[in-house]
Amino acid sequence: MFKALVVEKNDEGKTSASVQELSEDQLPAAEVTVNVAYSTVNYKDGLCIGPGGGLVRNYPHIPGIDFAGTVSASDDPRYKPGDAVVLTGWRVGEAHWGGYSQKARVKADWLVPLPAGLDARQAMAVGTAGFTAMLAVMALEDHGIKDGPVLVTGAAGGVGSVATAILANLGYEVAAVTGRPETADYLKSLGATQIVPRDELNETIKRPLEGESWAGCVDAVGGEMLARVLGQMKYGASVAAVGLAGGAALPATVIPFLLRGVNLLGIDSVMQPYDNRVRAWERIAKDLPMNKLEAMIQPATLEDLPKLGSDILKGQVKGRVVVDVN
Ligand code: NDP
Repeated sequence: MFKALVVEKNDEGKTSASVQELSEDQLPAAEVTVNVAYSTVNYKDGLCIGPGGGLVRNYPHIPGIDFAGTVSASDDPRYKPGDAVVLTGWRVGEAHWGGYSQKARVKADWLVPLPAGLDARQAMAVGTAGFTAMLAVMALEDHGIKDGPVLVTGAAGGVGSVATAILANLGYEVAAVTGRPETADYLKSLGATQIVPRDELNETIKRPLEGESWAGCVDAVGGEMLARVLGQMKYGASVAAVGLAGGAALPATVIPFLLRGVNLLGIDSVMQPYDNRVRAWERIAKDLPMNKLEAMIQPATLEDLPKLGSDILKGQVKGRVVVDVN
């Protein structure tokens, strides 16, 4: 038997989440069974712990879009018992049972061996949010980061915190946008050199182009903020669009693309090909200082998840939650 956070739906369509005991034969069929050590809390997890936001297909459901642990059984030659693995994406925790569980059974193709230099707890302190932040930094590097400050929006959140720490460690000046002024010291401890109040960027664009301020941008917010930032990028600079914490609409003009050669780079972590996943995890082990990662961690248990799920939907989680499922 093992413990998991199970979300059920009643006859009136209302969902409820509770920690329950399950047996291994209840796990879905797949090649690799993992003893999960840690999981984490992402925005999507907040949706899936609650009514699902259209992401969950069937109930009862075990959420948790990412996890790290060790293989306990494998029908696939690439993995054997005892191997340390990490999983993000592939709709695990949405369409498939996920990581809020002491056991998970998944396809071998979805797993990545844990890179040398990271343990399971650190891997989940990084989690989908940090993995995506690394993909965003890699995309900016591939397109060339200009001279000057790199903007990170939603900076005190998961993606933003990790992006700030990685960029600062790589030697970039980081301007961190936050709506929570009380996080300024935290953001500076991660390496931000400038704090930009959210209100300065959250207004509808008045002019398609403003002064050229930013050498690159990791954007976790979208919406009006992204529209505004596009008009403030330096000539030829790139914005990595990661999230929609501030909205999915993009009320922008094409002028920054046409007159300043600005690039808008889409970042998807869910269907990311295997080779790039391995590359991103290796870069995380190399370029994310572990003392800064430690400073982002808020520990939690399976029992804490319903409250944390609702907190993250309200933008109230700081840094990275690490869920010890055992
Ligand atoms: P968090 O909730 O940890 O962080 C989001 C941050 O955005 C908040 O902490 C807050 O930062 C800021 N924010 C929240 N609401 C608003 C608002 N209305 N206007 C402006 N800023 C706001 O989430 P994550 O960091 O885990 O994820 C960030 C986004 O990235 C989410 O939309 C998520 O769905 C998306 N995502 C996308 C992935 C992909 O594959 N493309 C993978 C992972 C996440 P502050 O308090 O500092 O202002």
